[in-house]
Amino acid sequence: MLQDKAIQERLSSIYERIHSVCRRTDRSPADVKLMAVSKTHPPETIAAAVHAGLRLFGENRVQEFQQKRPALSGLGIDVSGVPGSSGESIAVHLIGHLQSNKTGRAAEIFSGVDTVDSLKLAERLNDGAKKLGRRLPVLVEIKMSEEAAKTGLGPESQELAELLDRLTDLGSLQMRGLMTVPPLDENPETARDCFRRLRMLREALAGRHPQLDFSELSMGMSGDFEIAIEEGSTLVRIGTAIFGVRPKAG
Ligand SMILES: *Cc1c(COP(=O)(O)O)cnc(C)c1O
Repeated sequence: MLQDKAIQERLSSIYERIHSVCRRTDRSPADVKLMAVSKTHPPETIAAAVHAGLRLFGENRVQEFQQKRPALSGLGIDVSGVPGSSGESIAVHLIGHLQSNKTGRAAEIFSGVDTVDSLKLAERLNDGAKKLGRRLPVLVEIKMSEEAAKTGLGPESQELAELLDRLTDLGSLQMRGLMTVPPLDENPETARDCFRRLRMLREALAGRHPQLDFSELSMGMSGDFEIAIEEGSTLVRIGTAIFGVRPKAG
């Protein structure tokens, strides 16, 4: 199959680039996870990526992933929560904005939610996970720029402080760290600045909340993952560089 081969080739080039930054910056490649962002791509493409060895995926819409799950299961991929699923098991995280009326469904179908950006959302996700008797790994999304369109909590916001205070009591959520999406900007140094400030924020917050886990720093996409790794990313979210340009409107 041509598609499997294309994905394999793109992947080995990405791994090579990750390894090369790690060598340069004295980091271990084992400390940088690769998430394949499969939004807008059909289940068959995800299956091809699984054949190429990928096990961690990012989707940005609840409904879209909800629709793909049965087909993935039919393709011999073990998607958690689909009855009778067997085969290679994958983890799929939500990396797009979550509406609070979809928290129950999100807690059910995703292996993790990486875009917690309000106290209300965290509480509703906690309720949803509790009902299902599961502990849901989450990342808190931080907005490092002033861009109006961006989601995420401000690094200095009162709500972020309140959320982190509250997270210890939300026993059905498992805090794992922070994520950010830098503003669209031609200049890669803008992204670098966001990544660096997120890492510094992580250090400060980890000092203030020793009972919470801040080990994951999800930052870096196709266009800037090398910069993100230089600045301490532990998880890069890569779509286009693995799957090619996405079909419009997804
Ligand atoms: C789409 C998306 C990505 C992947 O972007 P590419 O540029 O295609 O690698 C990463 N993170 C988030 C939050 C996204 O929505």
